[in-house]
Parts: sequence; structure tokens; C-alpha cells
Amino acid sequence: MSSDRPKFYITTAIDYPNSRPHIGTAFEKIGADAQARFRRMHGYDVHFLMGNDENTIKVDQRATELGLGPKAYVDDMALQFRQVWSDLNVSNDDFIQTSEPRHHDGCRKFIQAVYDAGYIFKKAYTGLYCNGCEAFKTEKELENGRCPNHQGQELKRIEEENYFFRLSAFGDRLLAHYRDNPDFIQPESRRNEVYNLVESGLQDVSITRKGFSWGIPVPFDPEQTIYVWFDALLNYITALGYGSDDETRFEKYWPADVHVIGKDITRFHCALWPAMLMAAGLPLPKSVYAHGFVYNKGQKMSKSAGTAIDPMTVYRTYGADPFRYYFLKECVFGGDGNFSEERFVELYNSDLANNLGNLYSRTLSMCVRYFGGNLEGSAAIDPVDWREGLDLDALAAELEGLVGTFEFSQALVTIWSRVLDTANRYVQNTEPFKLIKTDPDATKVVLANMADALRVVAILIKPFLPATAEIFYRAFNFEDAEPWSTVRYPSIARPPMNRPDWTVTAPLADGKPFPLFPKIQPPKES
Ligand SMILES: [Zn+2]
Repeated sequence: MSSDRPKFYITTAIDYPNSRPHIGTAFEKIGADAQARFRRMHGYDVHFLMGNDENTIKVDQRATELGLGPKAYVDDMALQFRQVWSDLNVSNDDFIQTSEPRHHDGCRKFIQAVYDAGYIFKKAYTGLYCNGCEAFKTEKELENGRCPNHQGQELKRIEEENYFFRLSAFGDRLLAHYRDNPDFIQPESRRNEVYNLVESGLQDVSITRKGFSWGIPVPFDPEQTIYVWFDALLNYITALGYGSDDETRFEKYWPADVHVIGKDITRFHCALWPAMLMAAGLPLPKSVYAHGFVYNKGQKMSKSAGTAIDPMTVYRTYGADPFRYYFLKECVFGGDGNFSEERFVELYNSDLANNLGNLYSRTLSMCVRYFGGNLEGSAAIDPVDWREGLDLDALAAELEGLVGTFEFSQALVTIWSRVLDTANRYVQNTEPFKLIKTDPDATKVVLANMADALRVVAILIKPFLPATAEIFYRAFNFEDAEPWSTVRYPSIARPPMNRPDWTVTAPLADGKPFPLFPKIQPPKES
């Protein structure tokens, strides 16, 4: 029964739908996806949530500019976002739009609970408001009298009567929580940042706005609508049915195991959100992982600065797996990364075309050419030769540690340097293309070893390059020995028991495998 399996609830930040996804948001979704796939593969009952943040003034403005109603506009944008994530092989189980009734219902229940608990009060408020952030800015946050993230925009002075959340009441409890749960905020550097921020004192925050028709009305004062962050953060529980259905999903999956977010929104997720949950008497998420930013040759990807690269451009040209590989390998998930087309082509040619693709095509070509695709007797061959010097049990354990803590780049470096390089070196040293002329039996032993290497690589890259991994696993009849749906990292160390002889099952054209990663010419200097 599925109930025996440990659950793993993983979320990403929800995105503003006022423009299409960019590489920075794609980076986050791909990282979360690798984690979700890794957990599913290792027996977890995973629930992976993504979504769009729709109850914002900007959405309403943008829809008006386009002559659309806000709901028609956000629904259309949600379709576009979901198409991009699907094209990138992101395996989310649910996609919440915060304009959905389930979200509205859950928000109303939540804000009422916090109000009843005495943590919401009304007061007149004057503050400096940044339209770009959709947030009030305190004096000490300003740079040159403007928002540090939106230097091009004037701040607006807004005066109105709003409801406030008594965030200031939670400082000590938050600090105690950070101390008692050292893994709550990851990576470590982000933890210190948040700790210092909370230690320096928290102010109560405005959580409603007056006079906006698009948004969620406050149940105890329908003239007010719930304001951006208080509303947005609740998607993590409303998507599970909190406040809208029988809540069995909520009871099963909450608290979240990890919220994957960008480093610019840690304070909302690590201070405001846990305080909101404390106020409502709900359990806190187990951890928050803040990833870095992706820069375009050193410049921050930003919708407002107009430097965003449409991920579809890169993806359409090179495919989903090379796109995923670039970001997971080249950009350390907890740090910042760079995108440049030159580096992309370099990495593609060296790691995918020459290394990964070459092992695949050489193994298949020789099996087909020398043995008609059927390695008769290979069930009796123990593939110890290519593994010489490799401790695959230890490697599986090491990689489980790395992937489990979002160290994807290091995991991929390890897979390439310890497994793929070893397998390719084995082919160079044994020279099966020469050996076949003098010793077909010895050649068959080499090819059985190479087939085993393909099997090992397929399993290891499954969370990262899902399409390629499956192509590798279906190259031979590996499925007859161990179903693809049940392989785990420790499977690499054991050649499957009672296995049949390996037979090529990959589709062929004129007796040759289809090229997986045809080399690309480096872009011309511009
Ligand atoms: Zn701003």
C-alpha cells in the first residue's frame, strides 16, 4: 500500500503571470523537478506543486491593457506556463492558480482563524509602496530613496486603513525555531541572513488593501482584499485542500518537506510564512531551500530589465535534456550561475555529444554490427571489468547524499568523472573495434561490460535527464531484468539477478542507432 511509503511534499514559488517564464524561473522548476524525480525513484510518495500568483494589481492592469477580463487573462497565461514546464519535462503533480475557488476558500478560512486568534488588527497606515515589488518599503530598505530592486521607479506614498498581521509577536518563537531546527533554512548562508534579520526586530505587516475588485475579499470586512504575500504563501496549503474539501490531502502531505524558492524571497518564506502558520496553529514546513540566480553573462535575468531569455528559444533549439543538463551542472543550485550560449555549446559538445552520446552509439553500433544485436551468453558474464576501481555501492550512497541535499552540480560532476569517463576509458583501452578481428568471445565480454555501463548511467541520470535516461534503459532489454519504474541508485551496484542475455532493443536506422546528441558548431563571435 502506498500509505507505507514516506511522503515528500515539495513546492516551488508561484510565478507572476504578467509575462512568460524566463530562465531564472526555469532554473528553479528544473531543480525542484530533479529532487522530486529522485525522491519518487527512491520510494517516496511525492507530491510536487507549482502554480501561478494571480491576485495582484499588476495582473489586473495587464489584463485591462489587453482588453481582457483578469480571469481570462490569467487562465491563458497559466496554459502558457504549463506548456513550458511540460516541454521541459517538469513532473509537477498539481498546478495551482490562486484565482481558483479552492484557493479563495482556503484563504478565507485561514485569515479568519488568524483573526479569531487575535493576531490581526486594523490601523491607519502611511507607507512608501513599490509597484514593482507590490510591497511597502521601510526607510532602512531604501537605496537613494528608492527600492533597491526597482531603481527606475518612484515609490508611491499610500495612506489607508488596512488590516495588519502581528508579525512582531513571533520574533522569539522564530529564532527558537531556527535554533532548534538547523536544517529549516538551506543553504547555511541564507540561514544566517534570515536569523540576523529576525533578530534585528520584526514589524507588523499590512495584509489587506482597500478598493480592489480583483483579489480575495476579507471575510470579516469585504471592502478589503487580502494582500499579495499573505494570499500567495497560502497556496502551499490551499492546493492540498485546506479549507475547501475534506482535507485528506492536506492531512497526508502537510507540512511541506521543502519549499524551493529564490534567495530574494527567503524572508517571506522563513519569517512571515512560519509566523502565519504559528498564528493559525498549523505545523511549519520542514525546510526552505533558497536557490541562487541565473545571470546572462553576469547580468541578472529580470523581466523588468528586459534581459530575460525565453527558455523556449534555447529549448526549441537544443531540446529539454541539454537545457536541463546545462543549468543543473553549470549553475550550483544554492549559488549563482551564468548562462551564455558559448558555454552551453561547449558543455553540450564535451559532456553530451562526445561523452554520453558517444558511449551510447558505440555500444549499440558494435553490438549490432558484430553480433546482430544479440549478445548471446552475456547473462553469464559478470561485468566486473569496466567496474575495476569503482565502488558502485559507495558511489550510490554518495550520490544519494548529494542529490538529497540539492547538490546537483556536484552529483553530475561525479557521475561524469567517475562513471562515464571510466566507461569510455575502458572502451579505449580494450579496443573492441580491433579485438573483434582476433577474438570475438573476448569482444563479447567487452560489449557486455559496455551494456552494463549504459544501464548504470541510465539509472544515475534518471532524475536529471529523464528522456535520455529512458532511451538508455530501452537500448537493451534491461527492463526484463529490473523494471524501469523500480530502479534505484543502489541498483547500479548489482547486475540484475537471473537476467536474460542482453539484446539491442533500440530503434535502428540502417542498422545504426539514432544519434542522440549530434555535435553543434560553436556560435560565431558577434
Ligand atoms: Zn521594488
